[in-house]
Amino acid sequence: MDAPAKKAGPEKRLTRKDFQSDREIRWCPGCGDYSILAQFQKVLAELDVPREEHVIVSGIGCASRFPYYMNTYGIHSIHGRAPAVATGIKLMRPELTVWVVTGDGDALSIGGNHLIHALRRNVDIKILLFNNRIYGLTKGQYSPTSPQGAQTRSTPSGSVDYPIHPLRLAAAAGASFIARTLDTDPKHMQQVLTRAAHHRGAVFVEIYQNCPIYNDGAYAELADRDQRDENGLYLKPGKPLAVGDRGTKATAVDGLQPKLVRAGSPGVLKHDERNEGLLGLLTRLEGPGFAIPVGVLHDVQQPSFDEMANAQISDARRSLQPDLQTLLNSGTTWTVE
Ligand code: SF4
Repeated sequence: MDAPAKKAGPEKRLTRKDFQSDREIRWCPGCGDYSILAQFQKVLAELDVPREEHVIVSGIGCASRFPYYMNTYGIHSIHGRAPAVATGIKLMRPELTVWVVTGDGDALSIGGNHLIHALRRNVDIKILLFNNRIYGLTKGQYSPTSPQGAQTRSTPSGSVDYPIHPLRLAAAAGASFIARTLDTDPKHMQQVLTRAAHHRGAVFVEIYQNCPIYNDGAYAELADRDQRDENGLYLKPGKPLAVGDRGTKATAVDGLQPKLVRAGSPGVLKHDERNEGLLGLLTRLEGPGFAIPVGVLHDVQQPSFDEMANAQISDARRSLQPDLQTLLNSGTTWTVE
């Protein structure tokens, strides 16, 4: 990182440029990562938090080059272990804003366990998962989120695996903030990232990211503006679960089954970011006959792991004996005659 910027204040507003590093960006032309990087830099500038108070931690994969391109502190860490590294940083330096940038292979294959436990503990870190449904860095093998039947370099006859669903996993693990956005909708991504930045506790944002080299068009039904109107369920708190901007269709339930109905029909559901039952339903909406939820699915406040662990440490320090010798002679000690 360059020399620390002056504390932001009315006399100096940060801009996107302040967060751009001088490293040459090495993603392929047209990669969705460029848009994510640009929106992230804009959002951080708007937060007006000095750049030396942000840390970006990544694992291994195309997405994991991210810290090099940010003029903040950053660690390009170990495959799948970014949540563990980020947890350590947050515990020791609670005043920092700690981001994890990962991909579907890094987070959901080798790093699955670390991801689950960071979310379960509600560590105050913000995990951004770039989901392109393919291994890009290693040249096109199927990933844990590739759909069944995906023909890739390692599955020429089509994958026979059932894919993992990132948002369902985050919900099951107990993340206190769960959202989804996509690389081709910059405004929406900025809104979601801003909400994520302000949340205290474990954040999980799935970002649909196009890999034009190995899995082009994975999200065509949302990336294309015209199709987005038919297929995107843009979530707004307190508003009906209506599809697209025109909102002619909406989501209702029939028994325990979700279904699309005409907007305004009886039984249309309204979005509630605190409702766990609704969260479960939203993570099940996929495939033909459903619109894809985009936006903040879940946002609840609860004490974070780092907050509680640091409170325990402070209490223990307060109750300690004043000097080391007294402490060493306390509890189960004896004199050998
Ligand atoms: Fe982006 Fe795919 Fe290239 Fe990786 S391989 S940089 S994900 S376009």
